[in-house]
Formats: sequence, C-alpha cells, structure tokens
Amino acid sequence: MRAEFPDFRLGTVLATSFTGTLSERHGTAVERIPTPQRLVDWLAVNGLAVDSCTTAQLERARELRESIHAAATAAAIQDALPASAVQVINDCSIQGGAAAVLTPEGKRRWQLSSASCVEDALSVIAADAISIIAGERDGKLALCASPTCQAAFFDTSQSRTRKWCDMNTCGNRQKKARFIANQRKNPTSAK
Ligand SMILES: [Zn+2]
Repeated sequence: MRAEFPDFRLGTVLATSFTGTLSERHGTAVERIPTPQRLVDWLAVNGLAVDSCTTAQLERARELRESIHAAATAAAIQDALPASAVQVINDCSIQGGAAAVLTPEGKRRWQLSSASCVEDALSVIAADAISIIAGERDGKLALCASPTCQAAFFDTSQSRTRKWCDMNTCGNRQKKARFIANQRKNPTSAK
C-alpha cells in the first residue's frame, strides 16, 4: 500500500507553489516532498514531468526551494538579497536545458531536454523565481500574515492587499480563529 503523504498546495505561480512544498516554516513544518517520488509527483502536477529523481536531486531541489524562499522573503520586505541564495537560484537556472514550446491550442508548455532531467525542471522553477523577484511580472511579493507560516507569496490581486499565502489554508484558519475568539467574547450570540 502506498504511504500517505501531505497534499500539495496548488498555486498559480510556479516558484511560490514550489516554496509552498514546505509549509508552516515558523510552526510545525510540513514537508510535502518528503521523498524523491513526491518531487516527481509535484513536477508532474506542475507540467514538468520527469521519469525519476535521485536523493541527490531531491536535495538539490530543496536547496533551490529554500534559496527561493530566502530571496523572495528578502524581496518582500525590501531587504538585500542573500548572496548565497542568489547563487543557488542562478546556478539552477543556468544548469537546466528546458525550452518553452507552443502547443497547437496556443498554450505554453515546457519541453525538458530529457525526461530524466530533474535539473531541467529546476531551471524552469529558478527562472520563474527570477522573474517575480526581479519585478518583471504584474504582482507584488508579500509575506503571509499567519505567524506560523510567513510564506512569501506573489500577490496578483488588484489592490495588492492579499494577506495570506493561501485562502483555503492560512486564510481559513485565521477566519476560524477569529470566529472562535468572537464566540468566546460574546457567547450569547452563538447559535
Ligand atoms: Zn500562509
């Protein structure tokens, strides 16, 4: 039987969906890619299918993930980018051989140089991170307001006032906490 692993959080921005594979960094951290196979699964869900992944490749992926997290966090609070994180992101971007191809339906798809190449997939993620950290895309990097999360996310809302990395998890939890607090303050109003 297949072991149960934590679900993936699906976002619309590749780089921050990837950093979201480790959540609750300031609480009880949840590792969503605990095994090489789970990285393979995550990549497949995100249009970067590879055949296999080694333990070393998983470690490299996690190194890239934490580097993106560090650089995106610094960018969100307008701090200097950590040099070591920038180095890892750049190395991953340079080392991969992936190409954007156009499908007959007019969609963009990533073509990796070979299906065994996790490095190619990481280069796509690194390039995505570079484009958001460099401010090339319409949106703003921000940090999740949940104290146990504080994940860097890319706010594409019109008002740029999004507070949570994910409405279904952090946002919802906050709403629930507020509801319970209100009930305690005002027990008669609760049905
Ligand atoms: Zn969050």
